[in-house]
Amino acid sequence: MSKVKGCETVKVVVRCRPLNRKEAGAAGFHGTPGAGGGIVEMDVRLGQVVLRNPRAPPGEPHKTFTFDSVYDASSKQRDLYDETVRPLIDSVLDGFNGTIFAYGQTGTGKTYTMQGAWLDPEKRGVIPNAFEHVFTHISRSSADRQYLVRASYLEIYREEIRDLLDHNVHAPNLHTQTPRSLELRESPESGVYVRDLTSCVCRSVKEVEEVMNVGNQARSVGATDMNEHSSRSHTLFLLTVECSQAGPDGRQHIRVGRLNLVDLAGSERQAKTGVHGERLKEAAKINLSLSALGNVISALADGRSGHVPYRDSKLTRLLQDSLGGNAKTVMVATLGPAPQHFEETLTTLRYANRAK
Ligand code: ADP
Ligand code: MG
Repeated sequence: MSKVKGCETVKVVVRCRPLNRKEAGAAGFHGTPGAGGGIVEMDVRLGQVVLRNPRAPPGEPHKTFTFDSVYDASSKQRDLYDETVRPLIDSVLDGFNGTIFAYGQTGTGKTYTMQGAWLDPEKRGVIPNAFEHVFTHISRSSADRQYLVRASYLEIYREEIRDLLDHNVHAPNLHTQTPRSLELRESPESGVYVRDLTSCVCRSVKEVEEVMNVGNQARSVGATDMNEHSSRSHTLFLLTVECSQAGPDGRQHIRVGRLNLVDLAGSERQAKTGVHGERLKEAAKINLSLSALGNVISALADGRSGHVPYRDSKLTRLLQDSLGGNAKTVMVATLGPAPQHFEETLTTLRYANRAK
């Protein structure tokens, strides 16, 4: 796997959200939230993150990490999109596969980065910007190209795959019934795919946004505690872009690019003392899939593509054809700047560092 600048296949960036009001209060800072006071400092020009241990004895050196790019508390959604995501979407439009992950502790900005506030142009995240990009490209392309865009939306919860667009599964009257878990299959033509997964044809940004809304609503049905549920499941929005065009031989040529937009489960250590039984098993599964993903990405980044352990989790297996090879991957690791999260923040930086 080449790591030459400009044609990287795995790109790792780190984003730090502003200190929120509560944290700023707790830390004894009285300025505006976000105006410093945290334990994370970034040098945007050098792509460096410096993490200060609030309990370290004076004189102990801070921990420094370097990434492809870093985005500090003042970074704009648009900057992250244009610099880091846009090239990946362009390659999907050229018929390659691409995956964007948001990884980090709950509350650090994964969903803000991926979705953001849809109605505020300044705050629209990766997903709405990607939809806009895809349909603008299609509207400007020459008339001899025909595009077909399809969307699917699923979540992986306790290593089970659930279709978020299947109305039967999520109808409220079926509340007590456990949603059906879908199976992964593999075929020579399609590679790895989810059997019976709903796929919706979308003709505009609006249509694809509607699909996303349906799925987001389905997620909250049946979840007694939405925050807890979203911190324990991975969601994957899949956009398939098919382009058909007559070649010089007069025959139709079809290119298919697949875009995976993944908001991962919270990376905080799940197995805390006092957790038993089902909860402990669930915690172990979350840790397993995130560490399996870390192993796959680090194997790809190291160029050890011969032994990539895709089979170790549902997530990595499902994304097998979109990680490695000609596919591009972006991992956005999200951090919070508060001193009380020093350990988790260090863990996130180490995970991201291994993935480069
Ligand atoms: P996660 O999905 O990782 O649990 P969220 O995306 O829900 O975290 O973010 C937690 C809170 O922090 C939300 O209120 C969100 O609006 C805010 N937030 C996250 N990132 C940023 C950012 N870069 N700028 C401003 N607010 C942010
Ligand atoms: Mg979230």
